[in-house]
Amino acid sequence: MQKYDKESFIKSIDSISREIKKIFPDRKYFEFEYVFPLSEFSTVTHRQNGDDYVIDKYDYFQGSESWGHPAHDIMIKDDDKNLIDDSTGKYVNVVSMSGGIVFSIDTSWKSGSRLRGGKYVKIYDVTYDRIFYYSHLDSVFVFPGDIVKPGDKIGYVGRTGRRTILPDGKTHLHIAMLKLENGYPKPVEIKKLIFRTKEKYFNAGKNK
Ligand SMILES: [Zn+2]
Repeated sequence: MQKYDKESFIKSIDSISREIKKIFPDRKYFEFEYVFPLSEFSTVTHRQNGDDYVIDKYDYFQGSESWGHPAHDIMIKDDDKNLIDDSTGKYVNVVSMSGGIVFSIDTSWKSGSRLRGGKYVKIYDVTYDRIFYYSHLDSVFVFPGDIVKPGDKIGYVGRTGRRTILPDGKTHLHIAMLKLENGYPKPVEIKKLIFRTKEKYFNAGKNK
């Protein structure tokens, strides 16, 4: 992995986020407008019933060798592991939970690559200084600089990433939220947000 200076990286995230806030359009999205990060699925399950968030010795700057699991895994119904929801016969959309701007993407992953997250999207939620990280995607439909609102499609659930493609791995979305503290991304537990938005999704009958 390429070495970089952590302090200067934090400073540049801090200044970039300030610049983005200055030029970002007026429309802000708030937490009550957040949506469940998947759409057009039949059912989903949560790793350890949603108690898979482990902060441990995690640090954002550990890269692909990081410890802990400061995130949530949401598994789709895909017993044959062909990425298609077994009940709907369709790919499952990954959608942005929040509003914001696409901060970075990586679509370079190929089978055998050591990159742990596979294909991913990071979205900067300008309203709350949060970064959302969506990984193991199959396809990515957004580009850095794209402005998104809650519910905008950003990719398909996939099986990319160092361990996700192993035969016993379930097809899932790995989602994390990090709060920027003066440019330093610190993970936050979002189990409640995930379950609240899922309830909203099913109450709206969106799975029909
Ligand atoms: Zn995960």
